[in-house]
Amino acid sequence: MTKQLLEETIRTIPDFPKQGIMFKDITPVLRDSKLCRDVAKKIADSFREDCIDVVVGIESRGFLFGMLIAQELDCAFAIIRKKGKLPYKTVELEYSLEYGTAIIEMHEDEIQPNQRVMVHDDLLATGGTAEAAAKLISKIGANIAGFSFVISLDFLNGQDKLKAHSEKIVTLVNY
Ligand code: AMP
Repeated sequence: MTKQLLEETIRTIPDFPKQGIMFKDITPVLRDSKLCRDVAKKIADSFREDCIDVVVGIESRGFLFGMLIAQELDCAFAIIRKKGKLPYKTVELEYSLEYGTAIIEMHEDEIQPNQRVMVHDDLLATGGTAEAAAKLISKIGANIAGFSFVISLDFLNGQDKLKAHSEKIVTLVNY
């Protein structure tokens, strides 16, 4: 995969959803099927020796490449969603946001204790979302084998929050 092509294809929208935020939009990447496959393969390549049982995608853009990566690794795929969206019995975790709190949840039977789990999202910013996902997975008794993101906003130091859960943090494009 050419990193340059991926960088050029990701679109930056200034001041979305609010003033001062440079929103990194991956939807143009989705139009290029080869690039999508290459992104998934590149991330999967970093985890082939890690015996991953489950890739967990974080709502909602984490579902896009998360599923492709799971296919590449020939393992299960599971989803973490905001509270109230999942139909079956769930386990949940409340975590802090800049203002207030949020609750994420997953179906109670999607991950088994002691399984090796890789957490995936499209973008790592402050790390709060991925950290909450890791805590939810740990609450079930599974092990965090690593994290992956298509994009990392390195200047926000999100990786620092995740290192307590796993030192393995794979990112493709860094700002
Ligand atoms: P955080 O919890 O701060 O690491 O935020 C990560 C989540 O927010 C991910 O699910 C991203 O999709 C989204 N996000 C945060 N900042 C941006 C940004 N600048 N561009 C696109 N998505 C973002």
